[in-house]
Amino acid sequence: MAFPKSFDDFVGNRTVVDGLRAAIAAGRLPHSLILLGPRGAGRYTLALLLTMALECERQPREMGPDGRDLAGFCGECRNCTRIAESAELDSRIEEAVAAREEMREVDKKETRVLVQTHPDVLIVPPDPPQLLIKLGQIRTLINRAQRLPTESPARVFVLTSAAFMKEAANSLLKVLEEPPPYVHIVLLAENLGELLPTVRSRCAVAHLGALPADEIAELLAKRRPELNKTERELTARLSEGAAGRAIGFHLAEYAAARADALTMLHAAESGRDHTALFKMTETYRAGAEGQTKTVALLRALSSVLEDMVLLQAGAADRVRNVDKRAELQRLADTFDFAWIEAAVRGLDAVQSGMRRNLLRSLSLDALAMEMEGARG
Ligand SMILES: [Zn+2]
Repeated sequence: MAFPKSFDDFVGNRTVVDGLRAAIAAGRLPHSLILLGPRGAGRYTLALLLTMALECERQPREMGPDGRDLAGFCGECRNCTRIAESAELDSRIEEAVAAREEMREVDKKETRVLVQTHPDVLIVPPDPPQLLIKLGQIRTLINRAQRLPTESPARVFVLTSAAFMKEAANSLLKVLEEPPPYVHIVLLAENLGELLPTVRSRCAVAHLGALPADEIAELLAKRRPELNKTERELTARLSEGAAGRAIGFHLAEYAAARADALTMLHAAESGRDHTALFKMTETYRAGAEGQTKTVALLRALSSVLEDMVLLQAGAADRVRNVDKRAELQRLADTFDFAWIEAAVRGLDAVQSGMRRNLLRSLSLDALAMEMEGARG
């Protein structure tokens, strides 16, 4: 997806976005801000747009619908263009990780992954391989926060995940308590439960809601003209109200992952015969793309399980995998609620195990076993 050229290109959540723009224009943007919303809702994009609005050399203003001044950005000055270079977050993180790999062992241990394309703006992603925000990263943040910005009006820190190591979260508290007047800290979170209550209570929260499926389908008609009506509707459902995710959604890849997820379920259903299941888990073991594939499988599996819960609850209209409704209804009739609950728990365990960098195939096999065990 092309990076927005203005706030108007940012899809959805107009009221929240205008509120934040008005706050910037009035010089009242909260210094500690949580951008809360589902994956794909555009939290990171919005964080960068707000940063550009804070730092832009030209500080353009627009009149909002209610007469308020709304901050904008030019997208062309040296501050805007450098900040926009952080947009490709995954590539920037890969570069930082590769640079760390080149280091001597002693330095490697001390080096945390950070993304910086502007001297006053620091992006703090979860540090691999554990994918948690670590103490070293927060120490750097605290250190920089003590110095005045050098090339723009503010120092902005964007923390792209709410998964912190405990010491890191505790250490962040100190800055959140009394941030210097030129410092803005933006925290991205999927749900507030991920954050320590002490962190939460020191931040303002801007909630990005999911968009209705028909609004997303409408957007897709413009942005993904190659999709037909059925594909658009399915994509809109599957992207769960997240415009960014819908635009980047790979239906074919999802369908492949979901076919594997259904194979797992059918293997669990038929009880004794594990052949299909083991054949499938083996394909997840090897290869560099193993992790991506595994993550896709886990997502598909949880989407399918959630649909089964909805079908059991008689809420068929909220099912997301609409093209597989009949098959899912049959599965929902086969498994009882306790089994599905155990499967969801197993799924959580695998996902947190992956965060702790356990061997992927081992935890996947463990999940498969647990699913069969819970049934039997
Ligand atoms: Zn600018």
